[in-house]
Amino acid sequence: MNRWFTSLALLGLSGTLLVGCNNQGEGEDEQGTDEKEEQEAEQVSNDAMPKNVIMMIGDGMAAGQMEVARLLEHGMEGELHMAELTDAAWMNTFSNDHWATDSAAGGTAISSSTKTDNGRAGTGPDGEPLDSVADLFKENGKSVGLISNNTVTDATPASFGASVDHRSETPGIARHLFENEYDVLLGGGKGDFIPENQGGNDLIQEFIDEGYAFVEDRDELLAEEDTEKLLGLFHPSFMNYKTDYDLYDSNEPSLNEMTEIALDSLSQNEDGFFLMVEGARIDHASHAADFTNIWQETIEFDYTVGDVMDWAEGRDDTLVVVLADHETMGVAASETMDKEGLREVSASPEYMVNQMEFDDEAGEYASESVKSVVEEYAGVSLTDEEIANFNEYIYNQEGELLLPHEQAWELGSFIARHYGAGVMDREIRANSYETGGHTGNMVPIFADGIGSESFNGVMDNTDVVQRIAELAELDYEPGEIIE
Ligand SMILES: [Zn+2]
Repeated sequence: MNRWFTSLALLGLSGTLLVGCNNQGEGEDEQGTDEKEEQEAEQVSNDAMPKNVIMMIGDGMAAGQMEVARLLEHGMEGELHMAELTDAAWMNTFSNDHWATDSAAGGTAISSSTKTDNGRAGTGPDGEPLDSVADLFKENGKSVGLISNNTVTDATPASFGASVDHRSETPGIARHLFENEYDVLLGGGKGDFIPENQGGNDLIQEFIDEGYAFVEDRDELLAEEDTEKLLGLFHPSFMNYKTDYDLYDSNEPSLNEMTEIALDSLSQNEDGFFLMVEGARIDHASHAADFTNIWQETIEFDYTVGDVMDWAEGRDDTLVVVLADHETMGVAASETMDKEGLREVSASPEYMVNQMEFDDEAGEYASESVKSVVEEYAGVSLTDEEIANFNEYIYNQEGELLLPHEQAWELGSFIARHYGAGVMDREIRANSYETGGHTGNMVPIFADGIGSESFNGVMDNTDVVQRIAELAELDYEPGEIIE
């Protein structure tokens, strides 16, 4: 008996006791009815079991990101698809060694029901490799797919599909994804599969030799309906932010398109499947206080949730769980937020930084280029003092130049302030060595389909897969498939 039906039975029992106090004569009848209902409930639990589980993770997404997206996309009366799922819960996200988890430890807690240290993906605090929900489903004859618009080797998919001491071991993660024989892998990160990073071995060719179809852009992907084994790598590194698609003349698929093709592919297995879909760049946009891409990335994720719900509608064999691994930057839909201004921003801060002219001799960006680029793409006129501050903030305390994406975080904070968009102060982020600005704020879980009632109240991130395993009647202990 799973936990949900245990609590149903307990509720039934306490109901009987209360009724018994009020009216002893009818007590026995009530109890008889309750037992019958309990048996029926158990019958339902045996009949209706999720054969397929679709888990969707908005990286760094909590109430603030969702509200910003809702307001900018639909206005005050509008609603996100996520809000239409039947059941909801809150989730705590702390890791083994910090209240602010990174995506590796956060992903591992979700995928393998085990708290581990920040930085670890698919391994416990002592380095022991963990079996994840992906492995559990694979072991039971089901198909497995992992999708991310980050690299497929980054922390979240790695937590489901690999076991490494540190998330930075991305070529090793790519190798694990191959060895674990997952059926569908879609996202960025081609650079981790090429001979230069695989000790001279062509890992993509190894996938092809094992019967995988390999695709590299949107057109190739959309032609792969009903392919059973599929590897799609659409960018050497991260896939592009929504604002930057056209600026980079990109031919990448959307999260919706990747998910649709994955569902076609995985649903051919009559024994069912597990699919993890990550909206990864919500986190990246949040780090950069880039409210325009927080909106666009969260909305793309939300439309993908809508598509998945359409796919699952009317089925009696699928559970959909939508959640986040942690919150990033304390993003808030503040009273002062200028929605119109933010809608008009036409590039990510990362793209803007790439357009600026760096003066090697001075060791800073030329003031005029900072000013004109930010005016052109963000519609913001930075003051001389702000430009001087930006040029100061692109160095860390050791005097080293930050990486381009970290420079973009600094630029994004200036733009957010101009538009009255509420977010963690840049100095707090700069001092957040553990995570670069993650918070311990609780995140939402939404669930729909078979067994979704199991997701309620305040949960821990280690509860999620335990509940899925119980519902699917698969034998699983934290981090371990029971043979
Ligand atoms: Zn992050």
